[in-house]
Amino acid sequence: MLSFQRPRVFEESAIDDPDPSDSIIEDRPVTYEIVKGGTAKGKDMLVESIGFAYTQKIARANSVTWWCSKRSNSHRCPAKVLQRGNDFRRGAIPHDHPADLGLLHKVKIARQVKDAATSDVYRPAKRLVEAAFHDNIKETDFCLPNPELIARRANRCRQTMRPPEPRGLDFSVEEDAIPDGFLLNVIRMDDARHIIMATQQQLRILQTAKRWYLDGTFKVLRKNTTRIQHRHSTNSSKNYTEKRESSPSRHASSERRSSRKYSGS
Ligand SMILES: [Zn+2]
Repeated sequence: MLSFQRPRVFEESAIDDPDPSDSIIEDRPVTYEIVKGGTAKGKDMLVESIGFAYTQKIARANSVTWWCSKRSNSHRCPAKVLQRGNDFRRGAIPHDHPADLGLLHKVKIARQVKDAATSDVYRPAKRLVEAAFHDNIKETDFCLPNPELIARRANRCRQTMRPPEPRGLDFSVEEDAIPDGFLLNVIRMDDARHIIMATQQQLRILQTAKRWYLDGTFKVLRKNTTRIQHRHSTNSSKNYTEKRESSPSRHASSERRSSRKYSGS
């Protein structure tokens, strides 16, 4: 006699399958974070964990209405969030644009870089961006911001905080901004001006060097200044073995590019 028993395969496979909600970002609880001074104008920004950001629309005694930060001159996304204390509720009207899942990182990094850039106007923006990435980004993060874009924005916002670039040769050298003893001389020759800088140790190395050689850096210089020239020295042992040591020993900033000026100096 044959007996029939319903197999239990379906139930077991259902138990083994992972809960789909574990791997779908949209099913995670939506969280909100207010980034102080997070907007380009330094206003607070509310960032929603699913990739949207809001700025304040109306602030009342007991509530704040935030509206989506996505806007242009002709269009504004209608999505809103109502905040009461630590409770945030999304409005019924959805966003009319895709989410940006890396938004919180972008806002935090941009804010950190902007603060650092305005408190130290001469520190290279690239270094500030690297530090902000290190502080805010984990290996598993994705949708990362464009570092070059953030560096450019940081430079733009501190543009007016730097002294104006020299427009001719009659500028004054801010000696307080140069380490003690590093500035050796400022020399005018014909229509050029040379600013000579070196440490005493570098000068001692040059004095004992058997050979000097030169190289130049151009891309960091602005108009009217054409070259940062490094003077290097090389020491070789008497029997000309392989061991050679070299060090950048002296720096000269010249306002005019001229091979004649560098020869024999
Ligand atoms: Zn929106």
